[in-house]
Order: sequence, then C-alpha cells, then structure tokens
Amino acid sequence: MRVLRLSKERYMETPWKAGDTASVHCPHCGDIVTARYARRSVALPRTRLRVRDVLVSICGACDAVLAFPRQSIAQFREVGVGK
Ligand SMILES: [Zn+2]
Repeated sequence: MRVLRLSKERYMETPWKAGDTASVHCPHCGDIVTARYARRSVALPRTRLRVRDVLVSICGACDAVLAFPRQSIAQFREVGVGK
C-alpha cells in the first residue's frame, strides 16, 4: 500500500524505542530536525483505519509524523494494511 512507502527504507535495523531521537529531514520544515520516537495512535491516509499505540518518529519542531520504523509495519499488517 502506498502509504507505507513514505518512509523510503530509511529505517535502521536496530529496533527503536520510545524516547530515542534521530536527525532526519522533515519535509514540512524543509530542514534537518531532531525527530523523537514515541507511541502514537495513527490514522492512515485514505482509509478509515487507525492503528493504536504504534511507534513512529515525530518531528521535534512541527510534530509531524515522519516515519514508521520497520518494527511498526507489522502493526499495520495486523489491521489489514499492506496485504
Ligand atoms: Zn517538521
């Protein structure tokens, strides 16, 4: 499904955990920002699905969701996305 390609394989192989931070480019800020990992309830674009308590990276400046770590993708599959 298209939405899952937003993160462009930028994940690290090691599992992330809530509270971790990383320097990433935020398309909303147009700059390199410090993203922090946190558990969020995420609404999936173009669907009515919501995934609760999924680990995502969030821009520290504008609060946009920037990426879904690889470990979170399994949670999307559980709700039927990516089949
Ligand atoms: Zn931002």
